[in-house]
Amino acid sequence: MRYSKLFGKTRHDPPCDADSVNAKLLTQAGFVEKLGAGIYNLLPLGYRVLTKINNIIREEMNAVDGQELLMPALHPVEFYEKTGRNRTMDDILYRTTASGNKEFVFGPSHEEIVTPLVAKYIQSYKDLPLSVYQIQTKYRDEPRAKSGLLRGREFWMKDMYSFHLSEEDLDEYYEKVKAAYSKVFERCGLHSYVIEASGGVFSDKFSHEFSVETDAGEDTIIICEKCKTAQNLEIAEGKVVEPGGKEEKELPLEEVSIERGFSVKDNAEAHKVDEKQILKTVVYEVDGEGLVGVVIRGDLKVSDVKLEDYFKKQLRPASEEALKKAGLVQGYISPVKLPDSIKLSFIGDHSIKNVKNFVTGANAYAKDYKNANLGRDFIIKDFTDLVEVKSGFECVKCGKGLKEMKAVEVGNIFKLGTKFSEAFGLKVSDKDGKLKTLFMGCYGIGNTRLLGTVVEAKHDDKGIVWPASVAPYNVHLVVLGNDEKLIKKAEKLYEDLEKAGVEVLYDDRNESAGVKLNDADLIGIPVRLVVSGRTLEKDSVEFKERSSDKSELYKFNEILKKLS
Ligand SMILES: [Zn+2]
Repeated sequence: MRYSKLFGKTRHDPPCDADSVNAKLLTQAGFVEKLGAGIYNLLPLGYRVLTKINNIIREEMNAVDGQELLMPALHPVEFYEKTGRNRTMDDILYRTTASGNKEFVFGPSHEEIVTPLVAKYIQSYKDLPLSVYQIQTKYRDEPRAKSGLLRGREFWMKDMYSFHLSEEDLDEYYEKVKAAYSKVFERCGLHSYVIEASGGVFSDKFSHEFSVETDAGEDTIIICEKCKTAQNLEIAEGKVVEPGGKEEKELPLEEVSIERGFSVKDNAEAHKVDEKQILKTVVYEVDGEGLVGVVIRGDLKVSDVKLEDYFKKQLRPASEEALKKAGLVQGYISPVKLPDSIKLSFIGDHSIKNVKNFVTGANAYAKDYKNANLGRDFIIKDFTDLVEVKSGFECVKCGKGLKEMKAVEVGNIFKLGTKFSEAFGLKVSDKDGKLKTLFMGCYGIGNTRLLGTVVEAKHDDKGIVWPASVAPYNVHLVVLGNDEKLIKKAEKLYEDLEKAGVEVLYDDRNESAGVKLNDADLIGIPVRLVVSGRTLEKDSVEFKERSSDKSELYKFNEILKKLS
């Protein structure tokens, strides 16, 4: 491709509203053009990269017996009424009305379409297992559309659905797809972490996310570098580091009057103790349980998701009003000598078990207890793991310090069970002629998000550094100078490379060396070849990899060999 003819050139200035590295570099280098929040045009360079990503995904899905098809993006709303997602996904659905007042939604996903489709064609257990996928555009009304291609309202996705006669068969296939996903990201030049996901309320852990480390990531994950494991912050398990030192004696409980702020920090400062020494109680309103106080070490945070998992009920931090109504004094709540008139039950995090002589509130304004001890001064009946893990906690498997990491989720896989097959009556007869409802799995990759993530993970201060597998071209050929002999040499090289099947972007413009070389760095093609007066003197061409600062000269007749 001649750069002079390419639609979509580099820009001198970055777009003024670029809120992320990928939006800035992809726009500046001529890969994408923003149409609106979360909506992008993919220009020829960008579309070439997306096509390469799509093909990698396609190959890996085909390798696990996925069959590619294409379903429509416009969905009659009644399919969503059948599963209830017309209601539960209301906030992300784009809706439209066609002539005759028929209601449609723009597909945010395709469970409602693929399940009845498969029901029409599956005749017997002999047709199973079955796995179908598509690479297609999805629509989600994303209130926080931002970060370039990372969070879009219209985006490309690969979604695959699998159908099985038994749960065991689904489990087996699920593991195969999990391995295929890691391969996809690796082939795109990324290291992905596989994370057991938190589903929040009522969920069992039956899904996995694939995350890639980048500063632009909205998620925080907790990793153990030794075990090579990663967990979602909300449900991560880790061992709290216990305060060391010699065994402390239990001192007599003491009530003190003290004016202080409400936070743990205020409390610790007022009493001149470490935050670890504070016994903190966080009160929640739990549906069907009333007010529940979570008792935890002062320097630690309660994980709402772990708490929800424990109760299997909806919950929220108690409002100021609810606390007041119950007779609780904000900032001074504790399980120590709580008046019988106050209806508050407690649950403890393990972190408070090994601390002696806590400082805590005395359930009255400006009154605290010193030397509060578990078992002697207060009793907690139920203990569980409720702490939000942070850097410095120890891995429960190997004891190494855990690390927090910013990450982008690029894929996820779910075991759907029979939820959708039940809704659409997807049943077949098994070997013994018994009707069985099918088990389903679904597997998604955000293809355009993956494109943006590659840029977030692979760039430097000069521009993008594409991994060879997804680069728009293999070679960026640059000619410096206007000399006729020089141009002739470059043109000949361009022809030879193309003939040899090398994908070449040939910068044939009449521009300065500075402009051309800066553009080459910005666009980020893995190999740059320069033909100039200097290289011609040695009958050579300069070879440089984008990821390296070193350049070398090669004879014209050697360069093809070098490239292969
Ligand atoms: Zn470990």
